[in-house]
Amino acid sequence: MTKIAMKTPIVEMNGDEMTRVLWVWVKDKLLKPYVDLETEYYDLGLEHRDDTDDKVTMDAAAATKRLGVAVKCATITPNAERVKEYTLKTQWKSPNGTIRAALDGTVFRKPILASNITPSIISWKKPIIVGRHAYGDVYKNAEIAVPGPGKGELVFTGADGKQQRVLIQEFKGPGILQGIHNTEQSIRSFAKSCFTYALDEKVDMWFATKDTISKIYDQTFKLLFQDEFDKGYRDKFTAAGIQYFYTLIDDVVARVVKGDGGMLWACKNYDGDVMSDMVASAFGSLAMMTSVLVSPDGCFEYEAAHGTVQKHYYKHLKGEKTSTNSMALIFAWTGAMRKRGEIDTLPELVAFADRLEQASLKTITDGVMTGDLARLATPPAKQVVGSEEFLDAIAARLKE
Ligand code: NAP
Ligand code: MG
Repeated sequence: MTKIAMKTPIVEMNGDEMTRVLWVWVKDKLLKPYVDLETEYYDLGLEHRDDTDDKVTMDAAAATKRLGVAVKCATITPNAERVKEYTLKTQWKSPNGTIRAALDGTVFRKPILASNITPSIISWKKPIIVGRHAYGDVYKNAEIAVPGPGKGELVFTGADGKQQRVLIQEFKGPGILQGIHNTEQSIRSFAKSCFTYALDEKVDMWFATKDTISKIYDQTFKLLFQDEFDKGYRDKFTAAGIQYFYTLIDDVVARVVKGDGGMLWACKNYDGDVMSDMVASAFGSLAMMTSVLVSPDGCFEYEAAHGTVQKHYYKHLKGEKTSTNSMALIFAWTGAMRKRGEIDTLPELVAFADRLEQASLKTITDGVMTGDLARLATPPAKQVVGSEEFLDAIAARLKE
């Protein structure tokens, strides 16, 4: 059998712990037998990040900008314990944060649905994709604990020295104050990434803020989105048969819960943080949630939404059997291969990505699944399998 050839390499970023173990199995059992896999490899495992003073993460981000498509394994974001565990030179920053900053991107999370895994909200039939703005607002705030009576004011001093001053509150006693910001450039990038993604997935896009209450801050988000849409996307949306619509955040929450899914829900930073956790848990398992970072100029980095599954890795190291679900990792690879195939006009590579996704889903609908899904399945699972057995079961179906 001749293997499927590629034209341009995919940027491959390896990672840590249990997902690093699964990474090799996914490639060896599911990809390499069928595809002449061409990747530009970056080892983002914590030891190598430490060895290179984290230069490898910066190089991987630059490669993603150059080649346009990347796939990433989960990586450890070191905390104080990890610094000791791996005897690190310093507490390196989150690789995802570094890559996101370099690509100026927005993160989109999309659940993988299987017919025998029932969402908690039974009307949900199609994926709800959450796009979260990853800059500013409450995540970059300034706060004051107000000790007692006094005046809270918002002051802006322009580069020319001119000031604008607004009274926030005359305090009669103790209280709290908070200052937040965003930038026009970041909001425009966020809008463009969302419109690009909706076109890519051919799904409607919903965006919501609280502009009736926040008449400058949230209103600006609404107006900039509309401006970007009118300037660059209206015709493309019409051609693709999809819609963009804006509404209030409370209205959109009600619509999402009552609806059947199948849209991109663009969220401001805080809304996206909270709502993506709600959507992920209502759909079932973290291991069924994919994630892609899209830059405003159209670079794509695919990964699983979950972490390195540390607890399973420690079991694996002790030689105990694990039942780790590799679905989101597989779909990160298929997402990257499909995108590479579309850009390079390689229909065979696109078709292979589809086949691998179907074989993976069929394994689950056949009743063969890992422990995390077995808890949620109706009818009950026929076979609860280990990490490697699950991949073998997919490989067998892919062969068929
Ligand atoms: P995690 O790896 O997402 O795992 C949390 C728990 O969720 C697991 O213990 C497991 O529950 C369940 N789970 C997650 N993925 C699963 C899978 N594929 N199959 C089956 N069960 C799965 O989060 P964490 O343990 O809090 O974090 C571990 C490391 O990951 C941290 O060092 C963190 O920095 C890193 N992290 C990286 C990323 C990323 O690179 N994108 C994202 C988040 C976290 P049970 O134990 O109950 O089975
Ligand atoms: Mg959250």
